[in-house]
Amino acid sequence: MRLIRSIKKMYEFSKKAHLEGKTIGFVPTMGYLHQGHLSLIRKARKENDIVVVSIFVNPIQFGPKEDFKKYPRDLKRDMNLAKQVGTDVIFYPDAKDMYPEGFKTYVNVEELSEKLCGKFRPGHFKGVATVVTKLFNIVCPDIAYFGQKDAQQAIIIKRMVADLNIPVKIKVLPIVREKDGLAMSSRNTYLNEKERKDALVLYQALNLAKELIKSGITDTKTIIRKMRQLIEKKKNAKIDYIEIVQMENLKSLKVISDNCLIALAVWIGKTRLIDNIIVNKYEK
Ligand code: AMP
Repeated sequence: MRLIRSIKKMYEFSKKAHLEGKTIGFVPTMGYLHQGHLSLIRKARKENDIVVVSIFVNPIQFGPKEDFKKYPRDLKRDMNLAKQVGTDVIFYPDAKDMYPEGFKTYVNVEELSEKLCGKFRPGHFKGVATVVTKLFNIVCPDIAYFGQKDAQQAIIIKRMVADLNIPVKIKVLPIVREKDGLAMSSRNTYLNEKERKDALVLYQALNLAKELIKSGITDTKTIIRKMRQLIEKKKNAKIDYIEIVQMENLKSLKVISDNCLIALAVWIGKTRLIDNIIVNKYEK
């Protein structure tokens, strides 16, 4: 496995691979890898000649009061894990090279970026769309792999790739969870023992929604109210949002329809967690 820090070297590597007729699968991450990331890398391994994983804690997607500085970082540990699942190249650029002095160009996916998490993290998805565009231009992947964990991000990236004719196929893979149901996240390392237990309430609320829908309730207001009541039982939980939306455009739904997304963001103490499920009205 190679570690490439230089943007130019990464681009040259990809160019050469393509000239040799090889396909490149790409998994962009912010590092501190867990089984969620590894599931994406494994899939990329199966489907491509070469697997590139980027590790870059992207400063421009964090708000001024967010956790950019304390975000967990451990390159050695990440390299070990990535190697075990067959990564060929770790791309590990420097923020100064990604955003040199005079940097002025941003990618903004309108409307979709202002919904759900966008309401609470202004500028976040602009930072994500910009860095992903840059990474696509540097790594030139055939297929890029994203997790359903960040449902809104995946929808935005798909929209961006279609709108800007970026020649890459986007694949979105299911959420990997801990045994008890908590969605894996690098941010789970912030949680203390008590918070870790309380964090389960996100998954429990999503399951409650699923049960309510199964029992025939289709009014989203009722479902959201019941989810809210469950979460508010935890003293150290603070809800940013619970929303039931249409998958493609993230528009709020009054009534459950096929393939709708139930998404939520909840603070457990000082840690902001997100989770979601896709539900089908007719699923039993
Ligand atoms: P991150 O390092 O958090 O930016 O995540 C990098 C990629 O891994 C994104 O496409 C995430 O959606 C995906 N990912 C993160 N957590 C999970 C998870 N629990 N299951 C599946 N994919 C995940």
